[in-house]
Amino acid sequence: MGAGIVDLRSDTVTRPTEGMRQAILAAPLGDDVMNDDPTVLALQEMAAEMLGKEAALYMPSGTMTNQIGVRIHCKPGDEFLCEVNCHILNYEQGAFAQLSGVVGRPVVGDRGILQPEQFAGLIRPENEHLVRTRLVCLENTHNRGVGRVQPYAAVEEICSWAHENGLRTHLDGARLFNAAVASGIDAAKWASHFDTVSICFSKGLGAPVGSALVGSQEFIQEARRHRKAFGGGMRQAGVIAAGALYALEHHVERLAEDHAHAGILADAVEATEGLELHARPDTNIVFFDVDGALGEAAEFVAALQNEGIYMLALGPAMVRAVTHLDVSEEQIRRAADVIPSVARECASGQRSAALKTSTY
Ligand SMILES: *Cc1c(COP(=O)(O)O)cnc(C)c1O
Repeated sequence: MGAGIVDLRSDTVTRPTEGMRQAILAAPLGDDVMNDDPTVLALQEMAAEMLGKEAALYMPSGTMTNQIGVRIHCKPGDEFLCEVNCHILNYEQGAFAQLSGVVGRPVVGDRGILQPEQFAGLIRPENEHLVRTRLVCLENTHNRGVGRVQPYAAVEEICSWAHENGLRTHLDGARLFNAAVASGIDAAKWASHFDTVSICFSKGLGAPVGSALVGSQEFIQEARRHRKAFGGGMRQAGVIAAGALYALEHHVERLAEDHAHAGILADAVEATEGLELHARPDTNIVFFDVDGALGEAAEFVAALQNEGIYMLALGPAMVRAVTHLDVSEEQIRRAADVIPSVARECASGQRSAALKTSTY
């Protein structure tokens, strides 16, 4: 990516910093399938400690940590309850069905947020016609819910309701540290309500690869078996785990900068005629709609791209921008300047020949 590019497509696009590269070079290595890679062990210990759980397991992706969580909590013919736009249900290719014989039952939230009363009556009675309700999955922050932080009291209530009724709880915490930094409620406190938590190192934390599943010793022991079966056993995994460990040590507090940058982008969107901000960002994700008079979202995104500002069209009219470690305040201010000028050009039809690029 050239120096002039401001890449806001996702917080997954970050490349390792110089310090992280040094940590990767210096990492002691072993064979993680034999459970003796010292860097992976150190990462797992630190992740478990930061989330206040007994154990953690490093895996190649957040999809794998989520899906192995679901796999162990549920048997074939079981269902989990989740928010309708959550990642586990929508963006993991229905792996819970393909790989584990499990059904997901969506509940419609308000931009990713569910309230405790919405769960009343959702647990299916024991009856041979019905699947068994086993698990509640929540997502914090909620990606499609404009990066919103879940309301803490609602999470607490939903999880106690689940446990009182014999259900398990899993948190897709791909961006849990964004939630922790934005809310001032630490990650372990959020995690205390869940049996298992998945965290991503390759989103805002800025590591090149990997996620961790965190939970009880017994659960994580079982997760090791499944990780092998799902093809996620890696050998000298310390090479990549070193980046993740460095990220936990150095990149958590700085997430506040990304949140401030998202605020600057949101200001620019709000001030631009023809663009409609979905909601003020709690964290690092900005969603907005493009008025038809400017063209489709994909055309607007293509016009921005000509100016070196990269975003994603995530619907016919919907655009997402995500701030992260590799975008400086200066670059954000440039993006904020370009947004209204590109909107004006699109409105005047000057950009109608722009190349369309879309991903949704
Ligand atoms: C990115 C993400 C994941 C995991 O994605 P992978 O690309 O498989 O690592 C899970 N949940 C949410 C909410 C995400 O944004």
